[in-house]
Amino acid sequence: MINFFEKCINFSMSLASKGFMGKKASADAKRLRALSCFGNDAISPCPHLMKSKHFDSHYCGACGCGDKPHTQLTVKGEKYGKLDYPYLTCPLKMPGFSNYSPADPREVSENSRKCQIEVYDVIRLQEIEVTSPDPSEEEYMVFQKLSKLGKSTQPK
Ligand code: SF4
Repeated sequence: MINFFEKCINFSMSLASKGFMGKKASADAKRLRALSCFGNDAISPCPHLMKSKHFDSHYCGACGCGDKPHTQLTVKGEKYGKLDYPYLTCPLKMPGFSNYSPADPREVSENSRKCQIEVYDVIRLQEIEVTSPDPSEEEYMVFQKLSKLGKSTQPK
């Protein structure tokens, strides 16, 4: 019988492997990212999620990029945002991000945020409303620069 940890890996690996190609993340990847950062009625928000002082949105306080126009984690915007980048890393390697890494078996607990998201119901995941804006040329150039930076700093 499949155990809780195997269930976590199966679910998240299959969703995470879908669509990080092209100019924007797949809708499923963006939904998982939204859940990882913002949580919902059952899952608490990430402790690193920060409210912007300049915009009506949030940014990641752990990635070191700060509170800037292109670092806003917008889920439902008309403008292309950080969660739309096809290649995007998360300091906690949460589900939906390009550097996703399953929960450590020594730390698996049904209460940990990562595990809660790893076993999240696929049907309910589809209920998370996301937009899928196309990037402008300028936004796409920013994404490519950040993407190269992210890949070069990835552990081998
Ligand atoms: S650490 Fe990861 S999950 Fe948390 S706010 Fe940053 S990008 Fe989102």
